[in-house]
Amino acid sequence: EEVFSLKDVSVYYGKNLAVQSVNLPIYKNEITALIGPSGCGKSTILRSLNRMNDLIPGARVTGDVLYHGEDIYGPTVDPVQVRKIIGMVFQKPNPFPKSIYDNIAFGPRTIGMKGNMDEIVENALRSAALWDEVKDRLKDNAFGMSGGQQQRLVIARSIAVNPDVILMDEPCSALDPVSTFKIEDLMNELKEQYTIVIVTHNMQQAARVADRTAFFTVVSDDEAGSRIGTLVEH
Ligand code: ADP
Ligand code: ADP
Repeated sequence: EEVFSLKDVSVYYGKNLAVQSVNLPIYKNEITALIGPSGCGKSTILRSLNRMNDLIPGARVTGDVLYHGEDIYGPTVDPVQVRKIIGMVFQKPNPFPKSIYDNIAFGPRTIGMKGNMDEIVENALRSAALWDEVKDRLKDNAFGMSGGQQQRLVIARSIAVNPDVILMDEPCSALDPVSTFKIEDLMNELKEQYTIVIVTHNMQQAARVADRTAFFTVVSDDEAGSRIGTLVEH
């Protein structure tokens, strides 16, 4: 089952074409890796999947980004809603400057999620393989955690609002090897329930975790010296 279908998707930053004419299906309960050299447009394409590009002044997406057959750039679509259903995890772990508990509870509270908050927090932390490590210090500030724990906390935070897809932009490149393997194990567990798209420039990581790999390359430098990337194979 196709969760996303990108049809002739190009992304511009102002007048500069950054990624050209990408056609790519992304399938349910799989890990799809976007791989390629720096500047080839991996992050740009990832951000087109949940309208994160909208937050960059001058960024413009053309073509169709279909999510379960529906154009997520359609006139009636609420981008905030899109970003709730399609979560994003970044390279540098970015917990809120709050307690571990409040990091997880923030999203569910914001959207007025029904249910017992303690249970919501526990379930999200369990899903991110973090519960046993933090259950006795839920009131501690998240900044006291290790980098790998912070990244799993951020993953738990995205899980807490019941997403359908989790996008990860080089989620391990700021982490040590042990934390990296923990996140990779976690991704493998999470794909049973979610669809995962990961940007990486690490071939070994793509080989370890991905069900499918989409290879991007830089096709040319335009007159202004900007790079233009595209998808070469998937
Ligand atoms: P990476 O190659 O790891 O994606 P970059 O150094 O290309 O990292 O980009 C880091 C950040 O800077 C990203 O958020 C990206 O969107 C932004 N960025 C990259 N190129 C430009 C640019 N030409 N102008 C403004 N922001 C940019
Ligand atoms: P990758 O993730 O593969 O390193 P990016 O998607 O970050 O590549 O960047 C693709 C191209 O888009 C690069 O030429 C980069 O400079 C440009 N770019 C990325 N982010 C921005 C931005 N915020 N503003 C302007 N140009 C950007």
